[in-house]
Amino acid sequence: MNDSIIKSTFLNQKDNFLSDLIRSDLDNNLKKESLKFRFPPEPNGFLHIGHAKSISINFGLGIKFGASVNLRFDDTNPQKEDIEFIESIKQDIKWLGFNYTSECYASDYFNQLYEWAIVLIKNNDAYVDDQSQEKISLQRGSPTSSGKESPFRNRSVDENLSLFEKMKRGDFKSGDCVLRAKINMSSHNMHMRDPVMYRIINASHHRTGNKWKIYPTYDWAHGQSDFIESISHSFCTLEFEVHRELYDWFLNKIPNDDNSIIPKQREFARLNLSYTVMSKRKLAELVELNLVSGWDDPRMPTISGLRRRGIPPISIINFCDKIGVAKRENIIDYALLDYCARETLNKISKRVMVVLDPVELIIDNYPDGNEEILEAENNPEDDSYGFRNVPFSKYLYIERDDFKEEENRKYFRLSIGKEVRLKNAYIIKANSVEKDSFGQIKRIYCTYDPLSRSGSGSPESKRKIKGTIHWVSKSKAVNINVRVYDRLFKKESPDGDQSVDFKSHINPQSLLILDNVYAEPSIKKASNDDYFQFQRKGYFKLDNCDNNNMVFNRTTTLRDTSKNNN
Ligand code: ATP
Ligand code: MG
Repeated sequence: MNDSIIKSTFLNQKDNFLSDLIRSDLDNNLKKESLKFRFPPEPNGFLHIGHAKSISINFGLGIKFGASVNLRFDDTNPQKEDIEFIESIKQDIKWLGFNYTSECYASDYFNQLYEWAIVLIKNNDAYVDDQSQEKISLQRGSPTSSGKESPFRNRSVDENLSLFEKMKRGDFKSGDCVLRAKINMSSHNMHMRDPVMYRIINASHHRTGNKWKIYPTYDWAHGQSDFIESISHSFCTLEFEVHRELYDWFLNKIPNDDNSIIPKQREFARLNLSYTVMSKRKLAELVELNLVSGWDDPRMPTISGLRRRGIPPISIINFCDKIGVAKRENIIDYALLDYCARETLNKISKRVMVVLDPVELIIDNYPDGNEEILEAENNPEDDSYGFRNVPFSKYLYIERDDFKEEENRKYFRLSIGKEVRLKNAYIIKANSVEKDSFGQIKRIYCTYDPLSRSGSGSPESKRKIKGTIHWVSKSKAVNINVRVYDRLFKKESPDGDQSVDFKSHINPQSLLILDNVYAEPSIKKASNDDYFQFQRKGYFKLDNCDNNNMVFNRTTTLRDTSKNNN
């Protein structure tokens, strides 16, 4: 089902500046068969909702234009990357509902990149620099002043070839030297001031092992990888706009024939979401310092976190569709993601009655030992979900805050002498309460109207009652655990102020664990594929992290309550 929804979402998506660009390229002799895109994550962390935007853009354009889309791991930095991240990235893309054409790795191109580097050296377009990184940075100048040329800039081609060979062999230590492109130390674009192409890294790579002692930089690897894969359009985030000149410069320096597709880099705005951080480095910090339970903690903005939280993949795609593709950065309100989640969840979630903060209710005039099985609709939005059986008896649980001793004209729930309807069941009236030694209500005593059963067709069943509350029959109640999540950060833009550690804005109350929760027995059939609405309480998802006990994560409330903070 998801497949067809995704297809129609993107086939009907409004045009944006990226699709306009593609159309204009098609009008200018680019063949439709030559269109090809890619999503290029670095496997140094789990994907987050920002990546979902990039995935939606690339795979969405793939669907819109009938073009293939590669998944390319940009695995050029062995110190930060790991196979664990590769697996999670693949799983997340599939879970979102996208299919990639080929699974590619920049590391598969290391040989080719090395050979092309030799071409650049031979053409006097690259040289080995023996200076330290610090020295090179100091010489780079500033946007308003020219840089200074390295004293090693004019080495002979032969010397450069021999030194580069030694770098590759491992004759040097990390930091001894680098290979730099020879471009222009006075360029207005700092990225054109003889950028580094290779550095020596002594680390084992998760795919190439210890074969390589030198690793290509992002700039040297990315465009050439796009070229190798015949990518027609290479879409990335705005911070790479200033790299575009270099991207094009490298592509111009490597050998190609007339039929080659020269990829085009274009940039769109990153997604920033309120009350969270999005950089993988910062998310990794939260994980390493145990400030969250892992990359897939349901408070994390990672795809795996959102999955555990219970946000359906199609809601994430709808969210990305709604925020659109822009050229200017802004902060999107987290509430929009919740809105998209509710929109889907209302249609697909199974309704159940669950009492999160129970108080006992006894129906005095209901026969002792009697149990009725009532029928309840699983999903009023979709008849195909059918009905379930809900047991009813003299002893029930209701929510503590669904009862108030004091009468208040605006309070339509239960109070002494007032009537409410028990959902799918009878009309009851509260008569008295029993309290414990702290003055806390222990039990509520009621009477019921035996003719008022919902759906019985009797005139009493149609009696209009202002309030309806949910309940659970005590003897058949299933004790479950519930985790109620709030925002992970108290501040709208936790990493907005660089002078303050973003971690100081963590919300200490972002997780509330409820263990005295009672659900109707149908909950026992819950599977990992189900989405639930705990009626009147919110949307919840089974979290299978604890085998002995059913644990449910609250995805979101039924309505947006963030504005009035309750
Ligand atoms: P981070 O800064 O979170 O570590 P990154 O840009 O280093 O992210 P990559 O794995 O290099 O992460 O990103 C893969 C692709 O996803 C890139 O094309 C990148 O531009 C895009 N991307 C990353 N973050 C966002 C975001 N917040 N919004 C949109 N696209 C993003
Ligand atoms: Mg990156």
